[in-house]
Amino acid sequence: MNDGAADGIAGGAFADIREQVRALCARFPGAYWRAHDRGRTYPAEFVRALTEGGWLACLIPEAYGGSGLGLREAAAILEEIQAFGCNAAAAHAQMYTMGTILRHGSDAQKQRYLPEVAAGRLSLQAFGVTEAESGTDTLALRTRAVRDGDGYVVNGSKVWTSRAEHSDLMLLLARTTPRDAAAGRTEGLSVFIVDLRAARGHGVEIRPIPTMINHATCEVFIDNLRVPVENLVGEEGKGFRYILDGMNAERILIGAECIGDGRWFVARATEYAAGRKVFGHAIGRNQGVQFPIARAYARLRAAALMVERAAAMFDGGETCGEEANLAKLLASEASWEAADTCMQTFGGYGFAEEYDVERKFREARLYRTAPISTNMILAYIAEHVLGLPRSY
Ligand SMILES: Cc1cc2nc3c(=O)[nH]c(=O)nc-3n(C[C@H](O)[C@H](O)[C@H](O)COP(=O)(O)OP(=O)(O)OC[C@H]3O[C@@H](n4cnc5c(N)ncnc54)[C@H](O)[C@@H]3O)c2cc1C
Repeated sequence: MNDGAADGIAGGAFADIREQVRALCARFPGAYWRAHDRGRTYPAEFVRALTEGGWLACLIPEAYGGSGLGLREAAAILEEIQAFGCNAAAAHAQMYTMGTILRHGSDAQKQRYLPEVAAGRLSLQAFGVTEAESGTDTLALRTRAVRDGDGYVVNGSKVWTSRAEHSDLMLLLARTTPRDAAAGRTEGLSVFIVDLRAARGHGVEIRPIPTMINHATCEVFIDNLRVPVENLVGEEGKGFRYILDGMNAERILIGAECIGDGRWFVARATEYAAGRKVFGHAIGRNQGVQFPIARAYARLRAAALMVERAAAMFDGGETCGEEANLAKLLASEASWEAADTCMQTFGGYGFAEEYDVERKFREARLYRTAPISTNMILAYIAEHVLGLPRSY
């Protein structure tokens, strides 16, 4: 594949960053990822290398020890990791989860946590929003935090809390005012910083969920956990808005990862189609093989433009809810088309572990479901962009 043509969401912008990230990724070849995938073990060495390289602190302002880069640079880093065949999912939340503290935390919280997160001494990788019963309907979550003296007592449970076992801190969304007593539909939820190091075994139990991908995702059970009042982020009752504020960044960055995945699939499919000979010639000479790859490439390039546009708007401080949602939708669909095309191009060998196609195929599928599913993005576009009636 002409990787240069699809080289980066900004047409190859941030070439230095991309080159350095590729050099790091070269230390973690397919065999490394296959071994962790097979054992469902956490790629700690890779996460450590990214941390030591300062890559996960890119969005933290320099005043707090980070490199103060923008979302476009962060997107370039994550895209490049995926395009190399690695998986940023083990680490990406360390980049952006801190955004809630940065935007809404007190000065004391910023001083206490951000330099530690920037230095990699504290991992802030877990984000407890989803619950088994409420699912997509976040406002229906049931985990309760009740004020008690100088703290809150929390009870409830979370599901799909990724990396909880490998994170020192967790941002937790809990209800502080019962739904029927809250001032408005979106009021009454609050965000807390939970120190999992102290809480594990003392009010918090974490259980891994076996899944089709190696994603370190867990159930978290919370039983009479005491959280000091200084760990409340921002104002009590405003947590839903704080969480929404962070979602644009997450959607754009996941979109960039999808573009990276798509580049990997198109590159592998192209190489294989050019080299594999059946009926006396390369399978890539058949239009039935080459057209799907060309189409996947075209869709990927188009989606990449939307990711780039959304990231630029975010960095420019513009309202970018529509673009962030479109970026995530289009990029996750483009990467999935590329994944399916790559599987088909490889024939039976797509199913063999050694080519990494089946692993990346499984991993790429996630982003049509999480962190937000395709339907909910379409519902957002229908309601908030097109002005159609709310459907739920
Ligand atoms: C591997 C993995 C990692 C995750 N990591 C995290 C994490 O770190 N933190 C966290 O908080 N969550 C995490 N999630 C949760 C993820 O965000 C949710 O799975 C997702 O939001 C959907 O919730 P649900 O699974 O309960 O599906 P449900 O809400 O039960 O929905 C099921 C299906 O119905 C559709 N649907 C529901 N309501 C409507 C409607 N009104 N209109 C149209 N379609 C609808 C959905 O789009 C979906 O396709 C993770 C999930 C996975 C699988």
